Amino acid sequence: MLPEPGGFDSHTHMDIMGLPVDGVLAAARAAGLGRVVNVGCDLPSSRWSVARAGEYPEVYAAVAIHPNETSALDGARAQVLAEVSALAQAPKVVAIGETGLDYYRDWASPDVQREWFRAHIEIARRTGKALMIHDRDAHEDVLTILAETGPWPSYSVIFHCFSGDAAMAARCAEAGYVMSFAGNVTFKNADSLREAALVAPAELMLAETDAPYLTPVPHRGKPNSPAMTAYTIRYLADLKKLDVAEFCAQLQATGARVFAW
Ligand SMILES: [Zn+2]
Repeated sequence: MLPEPGGFDSHTHMDIMGLPVDGVLAAARAAGLGRVVNVGCDLPSSRWSVARAGEYPEVYAAVAIHPNETSALDGARAQVLAEVSALAQAPKVVAIGETGLDYYRDWASPDVQREWFRAHIEIARRTGKALMIHDRDAHEDVLTILAETGPWPSYSVIFHCFSGDAAMAARCAEAGYVMSFAGNVTFKNADSLREAALVAPAELMLAETDAPYLTPVPHRGKPNSPAMTAYTIRYLADLKKLDVAEFCAQLQATGARVFAW
């Protein structure tokens, strides 16, 4: 489905999909997706991501504690972060994520979330891995913390499932942060996200599924899967009036730069 068979899904959760990995990867390959980054949200899913990366050539891993999980784990913070840090050293771990701030859900207090976010930033900087950020209704605080903990090499910060508007995209572009767009950019009511995608420079963009969530049009309503990254890539190329093969080549160059695979 993609002209370049080396396309990839920069952020997915095959463990949450709960389907046999072989079948998910075969479907992805058939759609032109040669790699997927499976992202951890807690210790079990981070371990799962590292284990699958060891088994499947197409799978790469990101490890972290999701901001919504931080409160439940706060009593064992040092121990949990030590394991995240150890997992980060495993082969084919390409990012620390997803970490960040989620002010939409109140599962953890902003103070606790910010402390865990800073700790993950420290691990990313120390290990040289990309920082994969979950930012929900927390743009200002995320940007402030990144500025305080910078300067960053331009390739190290990725906003997963980018949710900002055009102004936020311009600020990210200015700082050299990478914006990864998910299937929700194809939704009818996503004008603000489309404006952001138009502002984002192609060389600072990635595409992802965040499967099993956010299935792109025309399959909205069904569970998402890495293969469907192909729809989002084509949609973004059309939106930005770019040749899809050239956009794929650009995404691959950015992926190689950010994930160093
Ligand atoms: Zn995710």
